[in-house]
Amino acid sequence: MFRRTVRLVAALTLAAAATLVATVTSAAPAHADGCYTWNRQLSEGMSGEDVRQLQIRVAGYPGYNAVLTIDGAFGPGTRAAVTRFQQAYGLGADGIAGTQTFNRIYALQDDDCTPVNFAYSELNDCNSDWSGGAVSAATARANALVNMWKLQAMRHALGDQQIRVTSAFRSHACNNAVGGSASSRHLYGDAVDLGAGPHSLCTLAQQARNHGWREILGPGYPGHSDHTHVAHKSSRTWSASSCGVS
Ligand SMILES: [Zn+2]
Repeated sequence: MFRRTVRLVAALTLAAAATLVATVTSAAPAHADGCYTWNRQLSEGMSGEDVRQLQIRVAGYPGYNAVLTIDGAFGPGTRAAVTRFQQAYGLGADGIAGTQTFNRIYALQDDDCTPVNFAYSELNDCNSDWSGGAVSAATARANALVNMWKLQAMRHALGDQQIRVTSAFRSHACNNAVGGSASSRHLYGDAVDLGAGPHSLCTLAQQARNHGWREILGPGYPGHSDHTHVAHKSSRTWSASSCGVS
């Protein structure tokens, strides 16, 4: 009887302690982001999924005429992109992603991992499931996410004024309906057409050279008098002769 009571008290004490630990843990100051939370400082030479997640967020900071490889390996290109991101937001620019850098990213992203000023729905007015393109739906959607982070970087560089997306992902059916090229990057989810708004089409085409797009087509290129097209591509194709972009 006595032994059973002791065991019961011990069990209740353990349960209370577990509850206390759970309460303390959830109230801890460590940031828990709705999309993704980094748990260690990241610097050159490291690798992993957390590096890859970081690379997506700084993909818009590769420097002029460059593209950041998103491969989960923190090399010199990633260090330079992190440094540019830090400079863009007035943080200590050391190329090492720590608490300040991650907190800035948390403030910039929604719970679905898109940057605050862009949304999946904006990058796909063709269908709701990203199917029917030249790549799997998951790949098309992932490509669109990287493009949104590039757009967020360009938006910030241009004074945080709106950038208007007029067309992005297209299935083959949607691409045919608008007379798009059979090899259009829109079929891959990694092309975005931008309309004039606060910024002219030429301002967009010129600024895009700094944010990781190998394909830029704008005013002066056939069929592009009313939008500037930016996309990922293996080789560089810049053509907006009316804007001095070539
Ligand atoms: Zn286009």
